[in-house]
Amino acid sequence: MTILFSSPATRAYEKVRARMVSEQLQPRGVTDPAVLAAMNRVPRHCFVDDALQSQAYGDFSLPIGEGQTISQPYVVALMTQLLGLTGKETVLEIGTGSGYQTAILAALAERVYTVERIKALHARARRVFDKLHIFNLLCKIDDGTLGWPEHGPYDAIIVTAAGPSVPEPLVAQLADPGVMVIPVGERGNQKLVMIRKQDGEVMEEIVEDVKFVSLIGDHGW
Ligand code: SAH
Repeated sequence: MTILFSSPATRAYEKVRARMVSEQLQPRGVTDPAVLAAMNRVPRHCFVDDALQSQAYGDFSLPIGEGQTISQPYVVALMTQLLGLTGKETVLEIGTGSGYQTAILAALAERVYTVERIKALHARARRVFDKLHIFNLLCKIDDGTLGWPEHGPYDAIIVTAAGPSVPEPLVAQLADPGVMVIPVGERGNQKLVMIRKQDGEVMEEIVEDVKFVSLIGDHGW
């Protein structure tokens, strides 16, 4: 837990954030207390442009530039809950985007590695991590469909953009036991898939319908 508790950034929008948790997350089945606490604490408005800050806690995704979006709070919470983090895990995230999901993961895991293909988004997310004093993560610009082999295997992998199939390098870099969540399907219409690796076996389970931006790369679109 490295996020500054008492910075002006975390104090702003405190009530709106608490309402986001009680009205958007809890009624829809987000029950993991650690996930709810992280969603309550991480200042989501810091991850969007100034002009959009007052909308940051709404029940929707928002543009973050470069044709990309910050995911809806519920989707961030749901995907995080599926990972079942306990604070000891090494996590790989593909699609840093705004860095909001990364910050939630950093609050719940030991270490987070995050990959973004667009330089401007990577650079902006890094500035926010520094401002909020989130230090238990490493980010890089690259094609995340190749994973980040140097730091694997990963206890948990989360992909926040949707491809036509599950990138094989990510399955290979998943620890045993390990869990991955990834949206898979057509452009604009996908299923959220949870993949578990255990005793050398890989099992897939469809969670629900979702809509993500495209995963672009060697093992994506
Ligand atoms: N978790 C982010 C979601 C951003 S949208 C947030 O909440 O803000 C998904 C991101 O995935 C976009 O920033 C997009 O540029 C990135 N992306 C798409 N394909 C990628 C790839 N192959 N490697 C790394 N990032 C990728």
